[in-house]
Amino acid sequence: MPELPEVETVRRELEKDVKGFTITAAHDLHPRALKPESIAPLKSITGAKILDLKRRGKFLWFVLDRPQVLVAHLGMSGQFLILKNNEPQPKHVRAKFELSKSIRKKELVFNDQRTFGWVSVEETSKGIPSSAQHIAMDPFDPEFDRQETIDKFAKRNIRIKTALLNQEIMSGVGNIYADETLWRAKVHPEISTSDLSKKKIALIIDFAKEVMQEAIAKNGTSFDGAYRKVNGESGSFEESLSAYGRTDEPCPRCGTPIRRIVFGARSSHFCPRCQRKVK
Ligand SMILES: [Zn+2]
Repeated sequence: MPELPEVETVRRELEKDVKGFTITAAHDLHPRALKPESIAPLKSITGAKILDLKRRGKFLWFVLDRPQVLVAHLGMSGQFLILKNNEPQPKHVRAKFELSKSIRKKELVFNDQRTFGWVSVEETSKGIPSSAQHIAMDPFDPEFDRQETIDKFAKRNIRIKTALLNQEIMSGVGNIYADETLWRAKVHPEISTSDLSKKKIALIIDFAKEVMQEAIAKNGTSFDGAYRKVNGESGSFEESLSAYGRTDEPCPRCGTPIRRIVFGARSSHFCPRCQRKVK
């Protein structure tokens, strides 16, 4: 499932591949492709030039030469792919964009097997699309307030894993990077935020940024094969995972087998020796 590093990889690639191109046709090809809150049909962006690609947390958007933006959320398995000449169309294309820049033409598709992803046409406020207004800043945002975020975590009385996944406290972290962050910080996923010192919360925030930074450098994690770069290649961070998906494998720090538990309908992977539940 794409998290911040995967969405950032897609954003960087789209910036390289489609910035400056004009959308000459836009089609949604599945009833769930366009978000119901979209203020206009997808074809309304026909003729728009792509000026920039932006991201907050896991939300991605195309800045256009008009007030509206094209927002995309990859959901569980959404992919933006540029089709090469004569390449057969992928199996689960939900939306299709024909692009041109003078004589150059490109076809960009939004492919999404599990259909939890979506695209939408939206207005912005202070540069942020309406669907991302409720999302907190991610740690890569130049305006990210580390101290304020520490206080937000400390005020809650919920499991730290649940808090890390809450996009309204800090955005960008999903199941993979939450497990990796807590492994690095040596914190058990079920410990309550109110039982953690502010120093420990600060450490967790810093490790979240660090692990995502390292993942971006490796173009993300293609753990379940659902995430692909715009050119169809996978990311390579899964080789660097220490806890996530490593059930029964030795902890890279102490050799104790990694354990998997389920709460909040999500699996959590941790080292029972390095990440003790007792304070
Ligand atoms: Zn360990």
